[in-house]
Amino acid sequence: MNSPIAGDREAREIIMRKETAAGREFRAEKDRKDDLDKRLSRMVRLGYRKAPRVREIFRDRKLKPGDIERREDLSRLPVLSREQVVAMEKERPPFGGFAREDRSFQRIFTSPGPVYEPHLDEGGLWAAGYRAAGIGKGDVVLNAFSYHMVAAGLTFHEGLRACGATVVPSGASSTELQVQLIRDLGVTAYTGTPSFLMAIISKAEENGRDFKKDFRLRKAVFVAEPLRPAVRETLEKKYGIDTCQMYGATEVGDIAYECPAKKGWHLGEDVIVEIVDPYSGTAVETGRLGEVVVTRLNDLFFLFRFGTGDLSSLIDTPCSCGRTSPRLAGIAGRVGEAVKVRGLFIAPSQIALLKERFPGVGVQVEITLRNNRDHVRVTLEAESPPADIMGRFQALFTGICTVRADEIRIAGPGSIRNPGKLLLDLREWNG
Ligand SMILES: [Zn+2]
Repeated sequence: MNSPIAGDREAREIIMRKETAAGREFRAEKDRKDDLDKRLSRMVRLGYRKAPRVREIFRDRKLKPGDIERREDLSRLPVLSREQVVAMEKERPPFGGFAREDRSFQRIFTSPGPVYEPHLDEGGLWAAGYRAAGIGKGDVVLNAFSYHMVAAGLTFHEGLRACGATVVPSGASSTELQVQLIRDLGVTAYTGTPSFLMAIISKAEENGRDFKKDFRLRKAVFVAEPLRPAVRETLEKKYGIDTCQMYGATEVGDIAYECPAKKGWHLGEDVIVEIVDPYSGTAVETGRLGEVVVTRLNDLFFLFRFGTGDLSSLIDTPCSCGRTSPRLAGIAGRVGEAVKVRGLFIAPSQIALLKERFPGVGVQVEITLRNNRDHVRVTLEAESPPADIMGRFQALFTGICTVRADEIRIAGPGSIRNPGKLLLDLREWNG
Protein backbone atom coordinates (compact mmCIF):
# COMPACT_ATOMS: atom_id res chain seq x y z
CA MET A 1 0.00 0.00 0.00
CA ASN A 2 1.21 3.49 -0.79
CA SER A 3 2.01 5.80 2.07
CA PRO A 4 0.83 9.40 1.59
CA ILE A 5 4.44 10.40 0.97
CA ALA A 6 4.95 7.86 -1.80
CA GLY A 7 1.70 9.07 -3.38
CA ASP A 8 2.95 12.64 -3.32
CA ARG A 9 6.20 11.58 -4.93
CA GLU A 10 4.31 10.03 -7.85
CA ALA A 11 2.27 13.17 -8.30
CA ARG A 12 5.47 15.18 -8.36
CA GLU A 13 7.05 12.96 -10.97
CA ILE A 14 4.14 13.77 -13.26
CA ILE A 15 4.54 17.49 -12.62
CA MET A 16 8.26 17.25 -13.28
CA ARG A 17 7.87 15.35 -16.49
CA LYS A 18 5.53 18.08 -17.67
CA GLU A 19 8.13 20.67 -16.77
CA THR A 20 10.91 18.83 -18.58
CA ALA A 21 9.84 20.11 -21.97
CA ALA A 22 9.77 23.77 -21.07
CA GLY A 23 11.35 24.21 -17.66
CA ARG A 24 14.60 26.07 -17.31
CA GLU A 25 15.50 23.66 -14.51
CA PHE A 26 16.01 20.88 -17.05
CA ARG A 27 18.07 22.65 -19.73
CA ALA A 28 21.58 21.71 -20.77
CA GLU A 29 24.36 23.10 -18.57
CA LYS A 30 25.85 25.08 -21.45
CA ASP A 31 22.52 26.78 -22.23
CA ARG A 32 22.21 27.74 -18.57
CA LYS A 33 25.73 29.15 -18.45
CA ASP A 34 25.24 31.18 -21.65
CA ASP A 35 21.94 32.57 -20.38
CA LEU A 36 23.31 33.51 -16.94
CA ASP A 37 26.42 35.12 -18.49
CA LYS A 38 24.30 37.17 -20.86
CA ARG A 39 22.06 38.36 -18.02
CA LEU A 40 25.08 39.12 -15.82
CA SER A 41 26.65 41.25 -18.52
CA ARG A 42 23.37 43.14 -18.95
CA MET A 43 23.06 43.70 -15.19
CA VAL A 44 26.64 45.00 -15.01
CA ARG A 45 26.09 47.51 -17.79
CA LEU A 46 22.77 48.68 -16.35
CA GLY A 47 24.13 48.85 -12.79
CA TYR A 48 27.13 50.85 -13.96
CA ARG A 49 24.84 53.41 -15.58
CA LYS A 50 22.17 53.58 -12.88
CA ALA A 51 23.80 52.85 -9.50
CA PRO A 52 26.53 55.17 -8.18
CA ARG A 53 27.96 52.52 -5.82
CA VAL A 54 28.59 50.16 -8.71
CA ARG A 55 30.53 52.87 -10.57
CA GLU A 56 32.66 53.49 -7.45
CA ILE A 57 33.45 49.81 -6.95
CA PHE A 58 34.45 49.50 -10.60
CA ARG A 59 36.56 52.66 -10.42
CA ASP A 60 38.37 51.40 -7.29
CA ARG A 61 39.19 48.16 -9.07
CA LYS A 62 40.06 49.94 -12.31
CA LEU A 63 37.34 48.04 -14.16
CA LYS A 64 35.01 48.91 -17.00
CA PRO A 65 31.60 47.22 -17.46
CA GLY A 66 33.03 45.26 -20.42
CA ASP A 67 35.46 43.55 -18.03
CA ILE A 68 32.67 41.57 -16.32
CA GLU A 69 30.90 39.56 -18.98
CA ARG A 70 30.95 35.99 -17.64
CA ARG A 71 30.68 34.39 -14.20
CA GLU A 72 34.45 33.71 -14.21
CA ASP A 73 35.02 37.50 -14.36
CA LEU A 74 33.12 38.06 -11.10
CA SER A 75 36.24 37.22 -9.07
CA ARG A 76 37.56 40.66 -10.09
CA LEU A 77 34.87 42.26 -7.90
CA PRO A 78 34.97 42.25 -4.08
CA VAL A 79 32.74 39.92 -2.02
CA LEU A 80 30.44 42.11 0.11
CA SER A 81 29.39 40.83 3.52
CA ARG A 82 26.13 41.70 5.18
CA GLU A 83 28.05 43.95 7.61
CA GLN A 84 29.56 45.87 4.71
CA VAL A 85 26.17 46.31 3.08
CA VAL A 86 24.75 47.59 6.40
CA ALA A 87 27.61 50.11 6.69
CA MET A 88 27.21 51.26 3.08
CA GLU A 89 23.46 51.75 3.53
CA LYS A 90 24.06 53.69 6.73
CA GLU A 91 26.51 55.92 4.89
CA ARG A 92 24.14 56.46 1.98
CA PRO A 93 20.54 55.66 2.96
CA PRO A 94 18.42 53.89 2.14
CA PHE A 95 20.07 51.50 -0.38
CA GLY A 96 23.75 52.36 -0.16
CA GLY A 97 23.88 53.46 -3.79
CA PHE A 98 23.14 49.92 -5.06
CA ALA A 99 19.57 50.55 -6.25
CA ARG A 100 18.59 52.34 -9.40
CA GLU A 101 17.35 55.80 -8.71
CA ASP A 102 14.97 56.20 -11.63
CA ARG A 103 12.44 53.59 -10.51
CA SER A 104 9.83 53.46 -7.79
CA PHE A 105 9.73 50.20 -5.90
CA GLN A 106 6.59 48.28 -5.15
CA ARG A 107 7.75 47.64 -1.58
CA ILE A 108 10.68 48.23 0.70
CA PHE A 109 11.54 45.63 3.31
CA THR A 110 13.84 45.80 6.27
CA SER A 111 15.71 43.23 8.30
CA PRO A 112 17.87 43.55 11.42
CA GLY A 113 21.00 45.59 10.85
CA PRO A 114 19.07 47.46 9.65
CA VAL A 115 19.27 46.53 5.99
CA TYR A 116 16.76 48.01 3.56
CA GLU A 117 15.88 46.01 0.49
CA PRO A 118 13.75 46.98 -2.46
CA HIS A 119 11.40 44.16 -3.43
CA LEU A 120 13.28 42.24 -6.10
CA ASP A 121 10.74 40.28 -8.04
CA GLU A 122 7.07 40.26 -8.90
CA GLY A 123 6.09 36.77 -7.98
CA GLY A 124 8.76 34.44 -9.27
CA LEU A 125 10.84 34.23 -6.09
CA TRP A 126 10.71 30.85 -4.31
CA ALA A 127 8.21 29.39 -6.78
CA ALA A 128 10.67 26.81 -8.15
CA GLY A 129 11.31 25.54 -4.62
CA TYR A 130 7.62 25.23 -3.79
CA ARG A 131 6.96 23.51 -7.11
CA ALA A 132 9.76 21.02 -6.46
CA ALA A 133 8.16 20.31 -3.08
CA GLY A 134 4.99 19.29 -4.90
CA ILE A 135 2.96 22.39 -4.00
CA GLY A 136 0.45 23.49 -6.56
CA LYS A 137 -3.19 24.07 -7.43
CA GLY A 138 -5.52 22.52 -4.88
CA ASP A 139 -3.12 23.09 -1.99
CA VAL A 140 -4.12 25.30 0.91
CA VAL A 141 -0.89 26.48 2.48
CA LEU A 142 -0.37 27.90 5.95
CA ASN A 143 2.31 30.59 5.61
CA ALA A 144 3.64 30.97 9.14
CA PHE A 145 6.26 33.60 8.27
CA SER A 146 5.86 37.14 9.50
CA TYR A 147 4.27 39.60 7.06
CA HIS A 148 5.37 42.59 9.08
CA MET A 149 8.30 44.69 7.74
CA VAL A 150 10.49 41.74 6.76
CA ALA A 151 10.50 40.22 3.29
CA ALA A 152 9.64 36.66 4.36
CA GLY A 153 5.82 36.55 4.63
CA LEU A 154 4.92 38.43 1.45
CA THR A 155 7.73 36.99 -0.65
CA PHE A 156 6.89 33.38 0.21
CA HIS A 157 3.21 34.24 -0.26
CA GLU A 158 3.85 35.31 -3.86
CA GLY A 159 5.98 32.24 -4.55
CA LEU A 160 3.10 30.05 -3.39
CA ARG A 161 0.60 32.00 -5.49
CA ALA A 162 2.85 31.60 -8.54
CA CYS A 163 2.40 27.82 -8.07
CA GLY A 164 -1.37 28.20 -7.96
CA ALA A 165 -1.77 27.39 -4.25
CA THR A 166 -4.22 29.11 -1.91
CA VAL A 167 -2.40 30.87 0.92
CA VAL A 168 -3.50 31.33 4.53
CA PRO A 169 -1.37 34.27 5.73
CA SER A 170 -1.26 33.12 9.34
CA GLY A 171 2.11 34.76 10.05
CA ALA A 172 3.26 34.73 13.64
CA SER A 173 -0.18 33.96 15.13
CA SER A 174 -0.40 31.75 18.22
CA THR A 175 -0.09 27.97 17.86
CA GLU A 176 -3.68 27.68 19.11
CA LEU A 177 -4.92 29.77 16.20
CA GLN A 178 -2.70 27.92 13.68
CA VAL A 179 -4.23 24.59 14.79
CA GLN A 180 -7.69 26.05 14.34
CA LEU A 181 -6.83 27.27 10.82
CA ILE A 182 -5.39 23.88 9.85
CA ARG A 183 -8.59 22.21 10.99
CA ASP A 184 -11.20 24.71 9.76
CA LEU A 185 -9.63 25.46 6.36
CA GLY A 186 -8.46 21.97 5.49
CA VAL A 187 -4.85 23.14 5.23
CA THR A 188 -2.75 20.70 3.14
CA ALA A 189 0.71 22.23 3.47
CA TYR A 190 2.83 24.36 5.78
CA THR A 191 5.65 26.78 5.16
CA GLY A 192 7.65 28.22 8.03
CA THR A 193 10.35 26.97 10.36
CA PRO A 194 10.52 23.32 11.51
CA SER A 195 10.51 24.29 15.18
CA PHE A 196 7.26 26.22 14.80
CA LEU A 197 5.58 23.31 13.03
CA MET A 198 6.65 21.03 15.88
CA ALA A 199 5.14 23.54 18.34
CA ILE A 200 1.87 23.57 16.37
CA ILE A 201 1.75 19.75 16.40
CA SER A 202 2.37 19.71 20.17
CA LYS A 203 -0.44 22.19 20.69
CA ALA A 204 -2.81 20.03 18.62
CA GLU A 205 -1.87 16.95 20.64
CA GLU A 206 -2.32 18.90 23.85
CA ASN A 207 -5.85 19.62 22.63
CA GLY A 208 -6.47 15.91 22.21
CA ARG A 209 -6.01 15.80 18.43
CA ASP A 210 -4.37 13.06 16.38
CA PHE A 211 -2.41 15.22 13.92
CA LYS A 212 -2.08 12.60 11.21
CA LYS A 213 -5.65 11.29 11.41
CA ASP A 214 -7.59 14.47 12.12
CA PHE A 215 -5.85 16.87 9.71
CA ARG A 216 -4.97 16.96 6.00
CA LEU A 217 -1.55 18.59 6.32
CA ARG A 218 0.88 16.38 4.33
CA LYS A 219 3.62 18.69 3.04
CA ALA A 220 5.97 21.12 4.74
CA VAL A 221 8.49 23.45 3.14
CA PHE A 222 11.07 24.91 5.49
CA VAL A 223 13.30 27.95 5.22
CA ALA A 224 15.33 30.05 7.63
CA GLU A 225 16.17 27.31 10.12
CA PRO A 226 18.11 24.06 9.77
CA LEU A 227 16.02 20.89 9.57
CA ARG A 228 17.60 18.38 11.91
CA PRO A 229 17.58 14.78 10.66
CA ALA A 230 15.74 13.57 13.79
CA VAL A 231 13.01 16.21 13.34
CA ARG A 232 12.69 15.31 9.66
CA GLU A 233 12.30 11.66 10.53
CA THR A 234 9.63 12.39 13.15
CA LEU A 235 7.65 14.59 10.76
CA GLU A 236 7.85 12.12 7.88
CA LYS A 237 7.43 8.81 9.70
CA LYS A 238 5.24 9.69 12.67
CA TYR A 239 3.10 12.43 11.14
CA GLY A 240 3.20 11.48 7.42
CA ILE A 241 4.36 14.96 6.39
CA ASP A 242 6.69 15.12 3.39
CA THR A 243 9.39 17.71 4.15
CA CYS A 244 11.44 19.89 1.81
CA GLN A 245 13.94 22.65 2.43
CA MET A 246 14.69 25.90 0.62
CA TYR A 247 17.59 28.27 1.12
CA GLY A 248 18.00 31.99 0.55
CA ALA A 249 18.87 35.35 2.05
CA THR A 250 16.85 38.55 2.34
CA GLU A 251 19.41 40.52 0.35
CA VAL A 252 19.32 38.21 -2.68
CA GLY A 253 16.08 36.21 -2.42
CA ASP A 254 15.90 32.49 -3.11
CA ILE A 255 19.20 30.72 -3.75
CA ALA A 256 18.55 26.96 -3.76
CA TYR A 257 15.92 24.32 -2.99
CA GLU A 258 15.53 20.62 -2.39
CA CYS A 259 14.02 18.35 -5.01
CA PRO A 260 12.21 15.04 -4.27
CA ALA A 261 15.57 13.21 -4.32
CA LYS A 262 16.49 15.19 -1.15
CA LYS A 263 20.20 14.90 -1.86
CA GLY A 264 21.30 18.51 -1.92
CA TRP A 265 19.66 21.77 -2.94
CA HIS A 266 19.47 22.75 -6.62
CA LEU A 267 20.67 26.25 -7.43
CA GLY A 268 17.96 28.63 -8.63
CA GLU A 269 17.88 29.81 -12.24
CA ASP A 270 18.13 33.54 -11.48
CA VAL A 271 21.24 33.54 -9.30
CA ILE A 272 24.92 33.04 -9.92
CA VAL A 273 26.34 31.14 -6.95
CA GLU A 274 30.06 30.89 -6.29
CA ILE A 275 31.72 28.86 -3.55
CA VAL A 276 34.79 30.81 -2.51
CA ASP A 277 37.66 30.79 -0.06
CA PRO A 278 36.33 33.32 2.48
CA TYR A 279 39.78 34.87 2.93
CA SER A 280 40.84 35.34 -0.67
CA GLY A 281 37.45 35.48 -2.44
CA THR A 282 38.65 33.07 -5.13
CA ALA A 283 36.60 30.03 -6.14
CA VAL A 284 37.39 26.68 -4.48
CA GLU A 285 37.33 23.43 -6.42
CA THR A 286 33.93 21.77 -6.90
CA GLY A 287 33.14 19.61 -3.90
CA ARG A 288 35.29 21.67 -1.50
CA LEU A 289 33.87 23.68 1.36
CA GLY A 290 33.73 27.47 1.01
CA GLU A 291 31.53 30.52 1.49
CA VAL A 292 28.32 30.79 -0.53
CA VAL A 293 28.54 34.00 -2.57
CA VAL A 294 25.50 35.08 -4.55
CA THR A 295 24.71 37.50 -7.35
CA ARG A 296 20.98 37.84 -8.02
CA LEU A 297 20.34 38.74 -11.66
CA ASN A 298 17.86 41.61 -11.69
CA ASP A 299 17.49 45.18 -12.88
CA LEU A 300 16.69 47.01 -9.63
CA PHE A 301 19.28 46.30 -6.96
CA PHE A 302 22.84 45.88 -8.21
CA LEU A 303 24.45 43.91 -5.44
CA PHE A 304 27.23 41.82 -6.99
CA ARG A 305 28.87 38.99 -5.03
CA PHE A 306 26.92 39.07 -1.77
CA GLY A 307 28.78 36.96 0.81
CA THR A 308 26.16 35.03 2.78
CA GLY A 309 28.62 33.98 5.51
CA ASP A 310 27.31 30.41 5.09
CA LEU A 311 29.59 27.48 4.32
CA SER A 312 28.68 24.88 1.75
CA SER A 313 30.06 22.87 -1.15
CA LEU A 314 28.75 22.07 -4.62
CA ILE A 315 27.64 18.71 -5.98
CA ASP A 316 27.77 18.60 -9.78
CA THR A 317 26.91 14.96 -10.43
CA PRO A 318 23.56 14.32 -12.19
CA CYS A 319 20.49 14.25 -9.93
CA SER A 320 17.85 11.56 -10.26
CA CYS A 321 15.10 14.21 -10.49
CA GLY A 322 16.37 15.32 -13.90
CA ARG A 323 17.11 18.91 -12.94
CA THR A 324 20.47 19.89 -14.37
CA SER A 325 21.61 22.65 -12.02
CA PRO A 326 24.38 21.88 -9.51
CA ARG A 327 23.33 21.36 -5.90
CA LEU A 328 24.48 22.85 -2.61
CA ALA A 329 25.35 20.16 -0.08
CA GLY A 330 23.32 21.80 2.71
CA ILE A 331 24.82 24.41 5.02
CA ALA A 332 27.88 23.29 6.96
CA GLY A 333 28.00 26.29 9.30
CA ARG A 334 29.14 29.89 9.35
CA VAL A 335 32.38 31.19 7.89
CA GLY A 336 33.80 32.18 11.30
CA GLU A 337 33.56 28.59 12.59
CA ALA A 338 35.53 27.03 9.75
CA VAL A 339 39.12 25.95 10.15
CA LYS A 340 41.50 25.87 7.18
CA VAL A 341 43.51 22.67 6.95
CA ARG A 342 46.06 22.19 4.18
CA GLY A 343 44.19 24.72 2.06
CA LEU A 344 40.73 23.23 2.64
CA PHE A 345 38.03 24.17 5.12
CA ILE A 346 36.56 21.95 7.82
CA ALA A 347 33.51 23.01 9.85
CA PRO A 348 32.36 21.69 13.26
CA SER A 349 29.05 20.67 11.69
CA GLN A 350 30.90 18.18 9.47
CA ILE A 351 32.38 16.55 12.56
CA ALA A 352 28.90 16.52 14.14
CA LEU A 353 27.63 14.70 11.06
CA LEU A 354 30.39 12.11 11.42
CA LYS A 355 29.63 11.69 15.10
CA GLU A 356 25.99 10.89 14.32
CA ARG A 357 27.15 7.90 12.26
CA PHE A 358 28.90 6.41 15.30
CA PRO A 359 26.36 6.41 18.14
CA GLY A 360 27.89 6.22 21.59
CA VAL A 361 31.35 7.21 20.35
CA GLY A 362 32.91 10.52 21.47
CA VAL A 363 34.74 12.40 18.70
CA GLN A 364 37.21 15.25 18.77
CA VAL A 365 39.40 16.56 15.97
CA GLU A 366 42.53 18.56 16.74
CA ILE A 367 44.52 20.53 14.19
CA THR A 368 48.17 21.12 15.09
CA LEU A 369 51.36 21.96 13.22
CA ARG A 370 53.98 19.28 12.73
CA ASN A 371 57.11 20.08 10.76
CA ASN A 372 55.28 23.15 9.43
CA ARG A 373 52.50 21.01 8.04
CA ASP A 374 48.90 20.91 9.29
CA HIS A 375 48.32 17.71 11.23
CA VAL A 376 44.81 16.30 11.76
CA ARG A 377 44.44 14.10 14.81
CA VAL A 378 41.15 12.40 15.65
CA THR A 379 40.33 11.01 19.07
CA LEU A 380 37.53 8.44 19.28
CA GLU A 381 36.30 7.81 22.78
CA ALA A 382 34.52 4.50 23.34
CA GLU A 383 34.36 1.75 25.91
CA SER A 384 34.46 -1.22 23.55
CA PRO A 385 34.80 0.11 20.00
CA PRO A 386 33.98 -2.19 17.06
CA ALA A 387 37.08 -3.70 15.44
CA ASP A 388 36.63 -1.94 12.09
CA ILE A 389 35.95 1.52 13.51
CA MET A 390 39.28 3.08 12.42
CA GLY A 391 38.89 2.18 8.76
CA ARG A 392 35.23 3.16 8.63
CA PHE A 393 35.91 6.45 10.37
CA GLN A 394 38.82 7.33 8.08
CA ALA A 395 36.75 6.63 4.96
CA LEU A 396 33.81 8.71 6.19
CA PHE A 397 36.09 11.49 7.45
CA THR A 398 37.74 11.80 4.05
CA GLY A 399 34.34 11.66 2.35
CA ILE A 400 32.69 14.33 4.47
CA CYS A 401 35.61 16.66 5.25
CA THR A 402 37.53 16.12 1.94
CA VAL A 403 40.75 16.08 4.01
CA ARG A 404 42.49 12.92 5.28
CA ALA A 405 43.01 12.42 9.00
CA ASP A 406 46.73 11.91 9.73
CA GLU A 407 46.14 10.09 12.97
CA ILE A 408 43.15 8.34 14.54
CA ARG A 409 43.42 7.07 18.08
CA ILE A 410 40.98 5.23 20.32
CA ALA A 411 40.80 6.35 23.91
CA GLY A 412 38.87 5.19 26.95
CA PRO A 413 35.85 7.04 28.39
CA GLY A 414 36.63 10.44 29.88
CA SER A 415 39.79 11.07 27.83
CA ILE A 416 38.40 13.91 25.74
CA ARG A 417 39.01 16.97 27.89
CA ASN A 418 36.54 19.36 26.32
CA PRO A 419 33.82 17.12 24.86
CA GLY A 420 31.62 20.06 23.79
CA LYS A 421 34.30 21.10 21.29
CA LEU A 422 34.27 18.86 18.24
CA LEU A 423 36.96 20.73 16.34
CA LEU A 424 39.97 22.36 18.01
CA ASP A 425 42.48 24.51 16.18
CA LEU A 426 45.63 24.36 18.32
CA ARG A 427 48.05 25.74 15.75
CA GLU A 428 48.67 29.08 17.49
CA TRP A 429 50.14 27.23 20.45
CA ASN A 430 52.58 25.26 18.35
CA GLY A 431 53.96 28.28 16.70
ZN1 LIG B 1 17.24 16.86 -7.99
